[in-house]
Amino acid sequence: MSFNSIVLVKQVPDTANISGQVMKDDGTVNRALLPAIFNHEDRIALEFALQVRDNYGGTVTVITMGPPRASDVLRECLFMGADEAYLISDRKFAGADTLATSYVLSEAIKKMGNFDIIFGGRQAIDGDTAQVGPQTAEKLNIPQVTYAMSIEGLNKDSITIKRKIEGGYEVLQAKLPVLVTVLKDAAFPRPFKAKRVMAYKNAKTLLELEKLVEGNSLLYIDQLKDEYIQKHIYIKTLTMDDLQLEVERCGVAGSPTKVHKVESVVLGAGTHEMIEPNKDGLNLLIDKLMEDHIFG
Ligand SMILES: Cc1cc2nc3c(=O)[nH]c(=O)nc-3n(C[C@H](O)[C@H](O)[C@H](O)COP(=O)(O)OP(=O)(O)OC[C@H]3O[C@@H](n4cnc5c(N)ncnc54)[C@H](O)[C@@H]3O)c2cc1C
Repeated sequence: MSFNSIVLVKQVPDTANISGQVMKDDGTVNRALLPAIFNHEDRIALEFALQVRDNYGGTVTVITMGPPRASDVLRECLFMGADEAYLISDRKFAGADTLATSYVLSEAIKKMGNFDIIFGGRQAIDGDTAQVGPQTAEKLNIPQVTYAMSIEGLNKDSITIKRKIEGGYEVLQAKLPVLVTVLKDAAFPRPFKAKRVMAYKNAKTLLELEKLVEGNSLLYIDQLKDEYIQKHIYIKTLTMDDLQLEVERCGVAGSPTKVHKVESVVLGAGTHEMIEPNKDGLNLLIDKLMEDHIFG
């Protein structure tokens, strides 16, 4: 009994450096201006999928919807142990909110087919909505378990998951296929194996191959692509045409949510007050924090 997992991973802007300058007039983030990082919870989602493969066998496929440079996170997934990687990329997908993102992801998953479990992070650090996982599950008409802390059981029909709830946790059983979103402290992502880094550091998408051999004949590109496929270092790209999607449901066109403004909130102390380091001081501090609705 083995299980095929698909993992949703996202390249996110390093929000520690986000400021108003990176917003485009249409309310979308100018991602090219920001350092891009691997959304941490998605690493944990990948670790969950790899542990399922370690324990039961099967395959681990990672997918990301993003600009061409999002292939960087796919290479990191291959370094960590993923079997296959897909970049879902098209200019028409740009500026997508969660509705449009989950539409494209669910259609790509339908095209790929043959999965038992979809893993994703609970939340991405840029949009912070935690919506894409549940929305993707809805569009695939499969059960979803969010805020997962651990897998308690897995058999050919169902999975048992311990998930976080307010004030504690609950254990749920769900039928397969299922979508699971995981928490950032639910596991430790395994380190990259040097052998895998050596094997996959040259993994490339078609666009990257085209850049590599700019000015060469088309024939050469096809040959190179075949070579990369044979060496299992070809990262497949799925475009609008490959997925035959409804244009009006993708990108900015398919996004009812518009990000009005993004700005860094730097908490600056206007005034300050010394609090005595004793019981009375502590009580005074708690009173003030409750007054400001920071506590309680
Ligand atoms: C500051 C800011 C605020 C935003 N606010 C909203 C908003 O209120 N509503 C809205 O609809 N959109 C919003 N967006 C747009 C939103 O970021 C994008 O739609 C994004 O693609 C998905 O939403 P998210 O970042 O909230 O992801 P989440 O829903 O938090 O992501 C959860 C998980 O889904 C998977 N996932 C998410 N995106 C992808 C992807 N592109 N490829 C593969 N897997 C993925 C990952 O596993 C991720 O951990 C906002 C963007 C920014 C920068």
